[in-house]
Amino acid sequence: MYTGSNSERKRSDQVQKYTHLIFAFLLFSLFNFILNFPVYISVFAFIGAMVPDLDIKVRSLHRKIFHNVWFLFIILFVLLQSGVIDNMVAAVFSIGFISHLITDSLTPTGIMPFWPIEKPRFRGKIKTGSSFEFLFMIAMLVFIFVFSSVLL
Ligand SMILES: [Zn+2]
Repeated sequence: MYTGSNSERKRSDQVQKYTHLIFAFLLFSLFNFILNFPVYISVFAFIGAMVPDLDIKVRSLHRKIFHNVWFLFIILFVLLQSGVIDNMVAAVFSIGFISHLITDSLTPTGIMPFWPIEKPRFRGKIKTGSSFEFLFMIAMLVFIFVFSSVLL
């Protein structure tokens, strides 16, 4: 039975949260392999990966206002200057944030990392909520599982 509503049809091109979190963890693991972060600090990669989609509340600015590097710089500047976070947390938060932008750049809507400068615009062919996104997520999980002994 079709239970979709208007709001579902109008749903924006939004990547699932778990896809963002898994990719954030994957990217964190790769950096961790080189930099040897304490594993607990991965939580800041997760936070970084969640922050950009807070602009969903402002529909017309979604994928814009928080999905760019300037916003990341402002957050880092404010939090580092006020002493709320240290350099390591800032680095891991950035990994999560960037991982979010990379994931969104694989979708048809894409992202403009220097918005309001509209170029370049990165976009891909992975439709959100599609079986392809699901496969992408499974592939990442398998990768993490296979390499976990090396990466973590
Ligand atoms: Zn997003």
